[in-house]
Amino acid sequence: MPASFDALVIGTGQAGPALAARLAGAGMAVAVVERAKFGGTCVNDGCTPTKAMVASAYAAHVARRASDYGVRLEGEPRVDFGAVMARKDAIVAKSSGGVERWMAGLKGAKVFRGHARFTGPDKVRVNGEELSAGKIFLNVGGRPLVPDMPGLASVPYLTNQSMMTLDSLPGHLLVAGGSYIGLEFGQMLRRFGSRVTVIEMGPRLVAREDEDVSAALKEILELEGIEVRLDAKCVSVRKEPDGVSAGLECSEGAPRARGTHLLLAVGRVPNTDDLGLEQAGVRIDERGFVEVDGELRTSNPRVWALGDCNGKGAFTHTAYNDYEIVADNLLNGAGRKWSDRVPVYALYTDPPLGRVGMNEAEAKKAGLAVLVGKRPMTRVARAVEKGETLGFLKICVEASSGRILGASLLGVGADEAVHSLIDAVVAKTPYQEFQRRVRIHPTVSELLPTVLEDLKSQ
Ligand SMILES: Cc1cc2nc3c(=O)[nH]c(=O)nc-3n(C[C@H](O)[C@H](O)[C@H](O)COP(=O)(O)OP(=O)(O)OC[C@H]3O[C@@H](n4cnc5c(N)ncnc54)[C@H](O)[C@@H]3O)c2cc1C
Repeated sequence: MPASFDALVIGTGQAGPALAARLAGAGMAVAVVERAKFGGTCVNDGCTPTKAMVASAYAAHVARRASDYGVRLEGEPRVDFGAVMARKDAIVAKSSGGVERWMAGLKGAKVFRGHARFTGPDKVRVNGEELSAGKIFLNVGGRPLVPDMPGLASVPYLTNQSMMTLDSLPGHLLVAGGSYIGLEFGQMLRRFGSRVTVIEMGPRLVAREDEDVSAALKEILELEGIEVRLDAKCVSVRKEPDGVSAGLECSEGAPRARGTHLLLAVGRVPNTDDLGLEQAGVRIDERGFVEVDGELRTSNPRVWALGDCNGKGAFTHTAYNDYEIVADNLLNGAGRKWSDRVPVYALYTDPPLGRVGMNEAEAKKAGLAVLVGKRPMTRVARAVEKGETLGFLKICVEASSGRILGASLLGVGADEAVHSLIDAVVAKTPYQEFQRRVRIHPTVSELLPTVLEDLKSQ
């Protein structure tokens, strides 16, 4: 007889633990299964370690610029890469250990360590043990995509996971992929002292963003000595005596880029291929994401999918919001839907990019007449005082209604400042109303109403 539970949570990423705790708190008998480190991607090889390393990279950058602030340091600042990684490891261990202890100590829940695989619509097997449950929640996340790139089979490569265990600083890192993960790693490694070449197949970096954002980011990275190779068609890789090289068919520049290490940052795939989903009648789409309805229920009415594995978000906050939606619907009959949320995210380069709602290109694609307000960070007092004036603030407004559609804030503090626009976008606030509030001086946020004083039709 299988061990029987009310609820079974597979994966302890950003949705699973909170859901398990909430359901156990509501009196359900809960099983939690985790095959690797507790806390999943964000805690172990995503947000937490990268942002810890970004902080070290920022410290190195500021130290190099110390004299700009009237601070004299003896000699060139030196980055102790081992100490950077040890600091990162300590932060990760605390966070991952915290999730593990939380689950182990959860009243009403039992933890199973191992890989879960469906054996029927309401059953999974973990380490030879069969578990059944009335409700099953998938929070299995994703992993780095390893592309079908010519030569890759014979070349050692890094991913965001193996980057976390580097024991020495790469001499020259080739980053395949000019999007969010690639740019964060590229800039931090450059600041630690590596040479960095970012190779992007498309005509610009972070293609999902507006063209002016892509161009500004490229300029910012190049200012720090990062080489950016765009339009890199037919990328192939080859092992070299001293590292690796990539063949590039670019419109400009040398036909090969040489480095000591190669980082693959070309996307992620969901962990759904080894779950036995066919045994449970849970459908996936052509990219492997679990198909879900608005309330995150799968094609099997006993099974829900939360977080990156459902393809409805690729962030910690979207995974956590999935938990909130599912718990609220199950326990309070709230009828919440994932499609009610507006997109919000940040890119943690320095300066960061804070995004909310639609950007200019998305608004135009949706057929809206758009007004755009834009202000360079050189005209933001807080940025000037901090000596960090790269980037700009950009807000999009619907011409007919005046409602704020979204923003792309690229500049110091933008990951925080963007929050003051989230409620406005959700509430479809007319920009004139947004402008009426008093904001704190000196902050980046205080200039957002000013950005809206100079709206231009596009
Ligand atoms: C380098 C990098 C940086 C990032 N930075 C940010 C950031 O700054 N901000 C942000 O919002 N997002 C960031 N993300 C994205 C974020 O990490 C993910 O969106 C988030 O972790 C998704 O969580 P999840 O709950 O869907 O799954 P995950 O966190 O991936 O967790 C899934 C868990 O399920 C387990 N599992 C999988 N299959 C099974 C199975 N069959 N049986 C048992 N257990 C299983 C896995 O071991 C894992 O622990 C980053 C990602 C990367 C790679």
